Amino acid sequence: MLAPGSTIGILGGGQLGRMLALAAAELGYRCHIFAPEADTPASEVAAVTTRAEYGDAAALKAFAAAVDVVTLEWENVDREAVRQLAAHVPVHPGAHSLEVAQDRMAEKQFVEWLGGRTATWAQVDSREGLDAAIAQVGLPAILKTRRFGYDGKGQARIMVAGDADAAWATIGGQPAILEGFVNFAHEFSVLLCRGQDGSIVDWPVPVNLHKGGILATSTLPPPALVRAQAAEAVALTRTVAEKLGHIGVLTAEFFACKDGPRFNEMAPRVHNSGHWTIEGSATSQFENHVRAVVGLPLRPTSLMSARIEMTNLIGDDVADWPRLMADAQAHVHLYGKAEARPGRKMGHVTRLGK
Ligand code: AMP
Repeated sequence: MLAPGSTIGILGGGQLGRMLALAAAELGYRCHIFAPEADTPASEVAAVTTRAEYGDAAALKAFAAAVDVVTLEWENVDREAVRQLAAHVPVHPGAHSLEVAQDRMAEKQFVEWLGGRTATWAQVDSREGLDAAIAQVGLPAILKTRRFGYDGKGQARIMVAGDADAAWATIGGQPAILEGFVNFAHEFSVLLCRGQDGSIVDWPVPVNLHKGGILATSTLPPPALVRAQAAEAVALTRTVAEKLGHIGVLTAEFFACKDGPRFNEMAPRVHNSGHWTIEGSATSQFENHVRAVVGLPLRPTSLMSARIEMTNLIGDDVADWPRLMADAQAHVHLYGKAEARPGRKMGHVTRLGK
């Protein structure tokens, strides 16, 4: 167990790192951000920042020497960098979680191996391979890069066979998977946290609405179909966390279909669909993640209200801040990003109760 006053190193400098650093500060821990970008949302609220590329061996070595434990807010960190860090300092979650969660194919295979259901899918390694995958999976389908996809990036829809050339070009001809279109009623996510003692807490499940591939809202309670499927999805995600030896928050996104839940993807970290836990739960995803990483006991995840809604502020949505700040019911979180580019997550608002 690391004592308060210890330093948590965080790979990645985005809003997730910012909210992790705030939660760590409340418990008396210091944070050291490692990120390639200047002026990140996380470094504004952290004790120290190293600005360097994730592949910079000298910078990683100095970072490892300066911190007591390493965690991450962004999972696409180079495997070699994680191995290098892990030789000097504990890294939570570890390499196994990252290797599985970085690759859409690996995570689907892992979940299927544990008995979970996914969309129908096929591996695509070439333009010809895409034709074979279409024959196998059927249309409509979605072509997704295996790595580095998020918020709908690295994806292309294929409605008819004639779309295949354009889809292959859109994803840049990278190793990919083709997924059959899932006819879902709702999307929801399982958020859990696994501690160093192996204990797991999970949060009540929100229903998530996406617009243009980006999360728009997370709402509790979810509709009846999601409520009926939550236990199965939570049990599967708990098994995934155990088999990975995962430490920290693990998020799994599911489609609620008429015939049961289908796993879509996972993130080995705190997640946008868990931001409501800051005000809406007895313990936020950020606090429990910090607790897991430093080896403290986890705290309960009970709801603070029967109705909770988190709304993302994307791009120009943030221009509404004067009205939101004047709304006594709105818990406003802004990430300190200077420029409101389209599709950029600028902040979020949580409301409890009606
Ligand atoms: P992802 O990056 O995999 O989370 O995809 C972004 C969003 O695209 C999802 O949240 C869904 O709304 C939609 N989507 C992804 N995969 C599928 C699929 N196989 N069938 C239907 N919709 C999908």
